[in-house]
Amino acid sequence: MRRPIVIANWKMNKLPGEVTSYIKDVAGQLDKFPNVDTVLAGQDVLLTSMVTAAEGTSIKIGAENVYWEDRGAYTGETSPAALANLGVSYVIIGHSERRNYFRETDEMVNLKVLATLRNGLAPIIAIDENIQLVSSDDHMHWVVNQLIESLKGIDETTAAQLMLAYEPTQAIGSGQAMNAENVQKSLHIMRATLADMYGAEVAAQIRILYGGSVRPNNAFALLSQPDVDGVLVGDAALDAATFVELVQLA
Ligand code: PGA
Repeated sequence: MRRPIVIANWKMNKLPGEVTSYIKDVAGQLDKFPNVDTVLAGQDVLLTSMVTAAEGTSIKIGAENVYWEDRGAYTGETSPAALANLGVSYVIIGHSERRNYFRETDEMVNLKVLATLRNGLAPIIAIDENIQLVSSDDHMHWVVNQLIESLKGIDETTAAQLMLAYEPTQAIGSGQAMNAENVQKSLHIMRATLADMYGAEVAAQIRILYGGSVRPNNAFALLSQPDVDGVLVGDAALDAATFVELVQLA
C-alpha cells in the first residue's frame, strides 16, 4: 500500500552541465519500473534545469533545503513559494549535514516542514542519530524526540503526506550502512511513535526511508524490511546507471 521510493541526494556534487545527460539516461530506463517513485534532489542552482529535463518523465525533483518564510529580506535564502512556483515537488529537510555543519535545530526543521507543507511541497524529513549515543541502549530516545519535535503542529490529515528518512550519522558517506535488521528495529520504533501521534491508520500510510551508504549490494536486504519504504541515496546515486539499478531493486 506504501509505494516504494528511491531518492537521489546529489548534495553539492553535480555541475549544471551534468544535469541533462544524467536525467536523460535515467528517464529512458524508468518505464520498466512503474511501481517505484523516483526523486532527484539537487542544489538550488541546478533546480531549474532539473525540472526542465524531467518534464514529461515520471521523475520528481527535490530541493535539499529551504527557508521558512515565503518572501522577504532574507539574503541568500531559498523561498518555499519559489520552489513550488518552479515546479519542485519535494524538499529534504533536516539532513544530518544541515544539522551538524549548519547548526539546524529541531525547531528550525519544524518551521521548514510547516513552510513546505503550506506551499504544497512534500517534505522529506531526515532524522539522524546522535553518534555519541548510538552504542547506548536508549539511543532511540534521541530519534523519537527529534521526530516529535520536527512534527509539531502537524495534524492527522496532513501527516499522511509526510515522508521520513532515518539516517544514522555514522552510516552517511562512510561506506558502512547500518545492517538491515537494526534499520528495521529503528523504523519500527519510529512508526510506533507516529501511531501514538496520529493513530495506526495514518502511521501505516507514512513512508519511512533509510539513508546511509546504500549501494546495490545492500539495497535489497534493506528494502525487504517491512517498515523500509525506500532509500535516500548520496554517493551511489551520483552515477545514473547505479541509480537505475537501485530503482530496479526497489
Ligand atoms: P550516502 O548519503 O548514500 O553517500 O551515505 C546518504 C545521505 O546523506 O542522504
